[in-house]
Amino acid sequence: MDARGVEVERGGPAELQARVLGAGLCTACGACLGHCPYLKTLGERVAFIHPCPLPEGRCFEVCPRAALDPDRLDAQVAGAGPADPLLGPHRALHFARALDPEVKQRGQYGGVTTALTLFALGSGAAEAALLTAGSPTAAPHPVVARDRATVLAAAGTKYSACATLAPLAPLLRQGGGPIAVVGRPCQVAALRKVEARGEAESRLAVVIGVFCFWALTPAFYRFLASRADVARAAKMDIPKEGGVVVSVNGGAVRIPLDEVRPFIRPACQHCFDPTAEWADLSVGSTEYDPDWNTLVVRTARGQALLDAAVAAGALELKPYPAERIPILRAALRGKKTRVLAALEAGSAETAYLQLSPERRAGLRSEAGAGA
Ligand SMILES: Cc1cc2nc3c(=O)[nH]c(=O)nc-3n(C[C@H](O)[C@H](O)[C@H](O)COP(=O)(O)OP(=O)(O)OC[C@H]3O[C@@H](n4cnc5c(N)ncnc54)[C@H](O)[C@@H]3O)c2cc1C
Ligand code: SF4
Ligand code: SF4
Repeated sequence: MDARGVEVERGGPAELQARVLGAGLCTACGACLGHCPYLKTLGERVAFIHPCPLPEGRCFEVCPRAALDPDRLDAQVAGAGPADPLLGPHRALHFARALDPEVKQRGQYGGVTTALTLFALGSGAAEAALLTAGSPTAAPHPVVARDRATVLAAAGTKYSACATLAPLAPLLRQGGGPIAVVGRPCQVAALRKVEARGEAESRLAVVIGVFCFWALTPAFYRFLASRADVARAAKMDIPKEGGVVVSVNGGAVRIPLDEVRPFIRPACQHCFDPTAEWADLSVGSTEYDPDWNTLVVRTARGQALLDAAVAAGALELKPYPAERIPILRAALRGKKTRVLAALEAGSAETAYLQLSPERRAGLRSEAGAGA
């Protein structure tokens, strides 16, 4: 126990296997890969190919599902005490969109993530960017982008759990310049755990998190392939009305949520962080206007990159509409209080969460306020 009454977790490969991989709770973030010759990935499945005898290991230390301590991450990233229990550390909230027409056209919504990545590379803030590439209807793969064409090719959301961080450990070992990383919230948490170990030193130029409420298993791609009407989809979206919308031949096909639900990755049901609370900048949909993004500025580093990108004409901002803030908070409250209730009921799937008594109280009071 530490001074806050939070259990400090230590473990190694045996614990990772028992509590995460074997329990079906791996998020396929990819952070443990490249640390250990015995851990491999086959698509989105991460597994030990040989037992490892070490009692403690980096694989366990960097895994966001072995242990996650939000207060510790708040202090590490934002340098402050526990942050807003729903939205995490933040300095500003905007609507934003890219100004480059090609980025706008290729981006999932406003193309803010792609615009920021291109700006980081073009301005010299980053030398490489770790991204997720592929078509929306087939399993995606990690990519290390160093040029505009590769960044543009990675634009657009792939709604499954690519192990994007798999190339990180080799990239850090090789040395070289600063790296920008775009990842789902579980990947951002893993990155911060890597950083806390001192492995990234000053190599993380900027961490951009995309909002994520759930990811689908690769079986969803087989389901799509079995349907002639959506097999060649150019884009996929999860609109606020529910289900999945697939754009194909200029039209749109809606797949109802009931058909999609069986493909939700089990680990995502127990996820506590839909907005990448420990990123420098987090980007989501607006659930309101598909040409814009929600943009959360979380750190001084994120603010500096954003200011420079806006000054260079890469992005434009407008105020986040005050009346939309309760809608955003209600969605976050719903997910977090469900996970807190499971944790307090003793569910093994949420035991990875190390929530201090203050954070639990903050969430309970949010739940009361939103009821
Ligand atoms: C699995 C998943 C579920 C999501 N669910 C929601 C949601 O419920 N609500 C919401 O507001 N937003 C959600 N998002 C985020 C949203 O889809 C957009 O990614 C985000 O708003 C950024 O939009 P953009 O226009 O800036 O994207 P773009 O400029 O097109 O950039 C997209 C970036 O996302 C990265 N990326 C694509 N797929 C993945 C992946 N599988 N894993 C990691 N990185 C990836 C790419 O490398 C690229 O850098 C989800 C994203 C993912 C990956
Ligand atoms: S670090 Fe990521 S990929 Fe590895 S076991 Fe944990 S969740 Fe899975
Ligand atoms: S819902 Fe959570 S665990 Fe699942 S992919 Fe998204 S961030 Fe990772």
